[in-house]
Amino acid sequence: KEATDINVLVDEYLRLAYHGLRAKDKSFNAQLETKYDDSIGKQSIVPQDIGRVVLNLITNAFYACNQRLHTKADIKKNEYQPTVSVHTQKINQSVEISVEDNGNGIPKDIVAKIFQPFFTTKPTGQGTGLGLSLSYDIIKAHGGELNVETEEGKGTKFIITIPTTL
Ligand code: ADP
Ligand code: MG
Repeated sequence: KEATDINVLVDEYLRLAYHGLRAKDKSFNAQLETKYDDSIGKQSIVPQDIGRVVLNLITNAFYACNQRLHTKADIKKNEYQPTVSVHTQKINQSVEISVEDNGNGIPKDIVAKIFQPFFTTKPTGQGTGLGLSLSYDIIKAHGGELNVETEEGKGTKFIITIPTTL
């Protein structure tokens, strides 16, 4: 573990994910909203691991927005603005990192399975189904929790909670 500025780490991976997706699909243009809590400071974490979790969540969020962008109903109305919001917050003895999208949301029967290894709804070659299961393990190894709130047709929010360390 290393003393790491969580906000800098999160922002780096957000930009990395966004530009990676834009490189593959020039037509994709999401609005990024960020709100970083300066009181978090440095935390003792494994930066590559937490970075990997953030990258997984952000990649999933952009994918969900892109999926929604290509649903006929939204294109007709031309009123859908794909948005990914990333917030960090210090709450008592915890740091919260949330990644929220306004994609299609996750159906109830599917949400129970998303943390299982190899579970994916993506076409062959586009998803391994390992992102969330790996992310869950990494957050557990940091003594934290990974939770999800989702609503069909509205979007999804993943919340990482890790105990403060420094
Ligand atoms: P993969 O991205 O390779 O499919 P993940 O473990 O990252 O694997 O995610 C598993 C599944 O959870 C996805 O295939 C998708 O069905 C669902 N999922 C994850 N994040 C989101 C999201 N932000 N919005 C909608 N569905 C999601
Ligand atoms: Mg994924």
